[in-house]
Amino acid sequence: MRGRCHCGAIELDFMPARAPQALTLLACQCSFCRKHGTRATADPDGLLVITVTEREALERYEFGLATAQFLLCRRCGVYLGAVCGERGLVNVNCLDDQARFTQPARPIDYDGETAQARRLRRERGWTPVEWRGA
Ligand SMILES: [Zn+2]
Repeated sequence: MRGRCHCGAIELDFMPARAPQALTLLACQCSFCRKHGTRATADPDGLLVITVTEREALERYEFGLATAQFLLCRRCGVYLGAVCGERGLVNVNCLDDQARFTQPARPIDYDGETAQARRLRRERGWTPVEWRGA
């Protein structure tokens, strides 16, 4: 499933092993995600390819426990997803076929989770990431 930021400097190819309708959508309640209206999903058995066509456009934003890098386009401001080590999460709002994700976004609050628990959860639940491009 193809996706990109608004200007196209950063592209996504999300290849879940499951059908999009079977994937849980999460509306993380952290202040960053609420400001973006994030609907996130991942599939540990799939693959997320992130292609950076313009290296200077990629912002890796960290906050809180700084266990993940939130990927934003510096030019157009779109939030694409996050990476933690070699795993990633996609913001479904950036995908061309976002209408194929039919599950309602489930509000979820990770406050109080330790950095270690957070890394472990992502290792198990997030999608393996492959970087391409600049
Ligand atoms: Zn952009």
